[in-house]
Amino acid sequence: MKGSIRGGHNYGVPGAIGIIDEVKEDRKYYPFVISNLVREGFNIKDVTPNRTSTTGQDLSYGVSKCNDFGSDFFISCHLNSYNGSARGCEVLYHKSSSSGKKLAECIATEISKLGFPSRGDNRGAKADTRGLYELRHTKCTAVIVEPFFLDNLQDVEIYRRVGAQGIANAITNGVLKYYGKNPTYNSKKSTYSVNYCKEFQKFYNTVTQTRAPLIKDGIFGLRTESAFNTIKSLVLYNQYPTPYCKEFQKFYNTVTQTGSPIAEDNIAGNNTKQALNTIEKLIKGEY
Ligand SMILES: [Zn+2]
Repeated sequence: MKGSIRGGHNYGVPGAIGIIDEVKEDRKYYPFVISNLVREGFNIKDVTPNRTSTTGQDLSYGVSKCNDFGSDFFISCHLNSYNGSARGCEVLYHKSSSSGKKLAECIATEISKLGFPSRGDNRGAKADTRGLYELRHTKCTAVIVEPFFLDNLQDVEIYRRVGAQGIANAITNGVLKYYGKNPTYNSKKSTYSVNYCKEFQKFYNTVTQTRAPLIKDGIFGLRTESAFNTIKSLVLYNQYPTPYCKEFQKFYNTVTQTGSPIAEDNIAGNNTKQALNTIEKLIKGEY
């Protein structure tokens, strides 16, 4: 399956600016959409222009590269903005494209799982009424993704929590759902009855009492990786009122159901270090 993906606008003809800057942020998340889809076996072309002097050049660059590539689908990655109070996710498709509608619905559903509303207030998958260039001139199934409003504080707070990777994972899951595929980056967990990554995400949220909890999606993304590194240092340099080392030892014994449990003694000895390595491999799906 061939797809073309682009970041919306460019620094020559910038997009919207609110609490955050559209071009700056779409340039963070669209590359993760590409790397995710490549990992899933798609043949993906990045059709983002560098810098153009007009919006017309910006739009035609992506569309003509997409058409030349013989793409099966096209995704233009944006961020929405309006009046500061509008919020939620929109995915636009050409009004006479049933495949575009289906792809838009799949992506909007996945993005809404992050907490961005996709129902009511004219949100979610939407038929374009403005005659948007990219939807009229691409020859394949095409959508314009506006995951959230960059001038709405609630939306931006969710974005800060889930990160560019979280947005990209949701879009990827939408594409996979559209094609009736399951993500392979989750498939390693299927050899176990336990999703170790998800169990770790729960453990992290509980033990740290963090105000920025991880999404319990079982996906080893950048935030989960950094959470694991946090836990590792809390366990190894165990000098806080919370006995992080002991909590981790309990977590390890419980989640692995190991026949040779480690001592729950709050001492970061060799067995505990070994357990940290084991958990790291399990949550990364490297076993
Ligand atoms: Zn835009």
